[in-house]
Amino acid sequence: MKIGIVGCGNVGSASAYACALRGVGTSLTLIDHNHALAVAQAEDILHATPFAKSMPVSAGTYDDLDGAGIVMISAGVNQKPGETRLDLLKRNADIFATIIPEIIRAAPGCILLIASNPVDVMTHWSVKMAVKHGFAPERIIGSGTILDTARFRTLIARQAQVSSHSVHAHVIGEHGDSEVLHWSKAHIASNNIDDFGAQTGRVFTPEIRAEIDQSVRRAAYRIIQGKGATWYGIGAGMARIARAITENENAILTCCAPVQSIVGVDDVTLSLPRIIAAQGIVSTLMPSLSETEEQQLQKSATILKSAINDLPSL
Ligand code: NAD
Repeated sequence: MKIGIVGCGNVGSASAYACALRGVGTSLTLIDHNHALAVAQAEDILHATPFAKSMPVSAGTYDDLDGAGIVMISAGVNQKPGETRLDLLKRNADIFATIIPEIIRAAPGCILLIASNPVDVMTHWSVKMAVKHGFAPERIIGSGTILDTARFRTLIARQAQVSSHSVHAHVIGEHGDSEVLHWSKAHIASNNIDDFGAQTGRVFTPEIRAEIDQSVRRAAYRIIQGKGATWYGIGAGMARIARAITENENAILTCCAPVQSIVGVDDVTLSLPRIIAAQGIVSTLMPSLSETEEQQLQKSATILKSAINDLPSL
């Protein structure tokens, strides 16, 4: 399956690189309004393919997206130190207004994967815009909290001294400050976190949980402080979503998409565990939440709804 990537800066190039290394897709087409950058990124990534999956990687224009099965969007302006993701909203909405119609014209059969921030709001807007062009909403997937979930699993695994592959834990809600760490259903293999602690002595005290919570929630700010932006984690996450599509996996990933109504908030886009396969989002799972988690999700949904209401009208 041909994969297109629009916006080939840190995130777009890391997503393309992760696809090449993991052998996701059969060719990669890189597009950026800085065409020289797309050309350079494509050439650099192409040189990695003899060590991974041998596949064509090239820079192109929107017309070259013809036949693409997946188009990733990581175009936009980046979060500055201290800037919240929601501050990015208006700057990125203008960019999307030009990009989305071009992609739909060139690749009407594709699935759109969106990474640009604030990703929940950009995904919401993309769905509304794309539907006007006759595009099916389940074919638009925001990366949402796939990265936050990965951070959560990584930190639980480190504390538990087990592989992160054995940790089942999700972050839902906003990809951002109000996200909800779903501790009440976090599992290590088939043991809940408390049972695991009782058996191994690796106990998740309230202090340790609070530390992990902050570490997950503040990760982007910390990394941006140190290196200006984040890209490896999300690049791997984008390739992971793409693989669920190319391999028709029915994988459950925490991605964002619009929901009609949740915790009393209507027509909002946020992350929940979603079954993802060749046709895009197959279905959405509503996790069973503790009372506190439900309140947190309501707060998160309300924050997102207010950002969505701030979107320029279509
Ligand atoms: P970057 O500045 O390195 O890359 C953005 C690219 O988009 C640039 O190369 C720029 O030339 C291009 N671009 C801008 N306008 C364009 C247009 N109209 N058409 C085509 N290309 C255009 O930024 P980055 O670090 O790669 O971040 C990209 C986006 O991803 C940001 O919004 C950032 O906040 C977001 N991000 C999301 C996550 C996540 O988990 N979803 C994680 C990290 C970053």
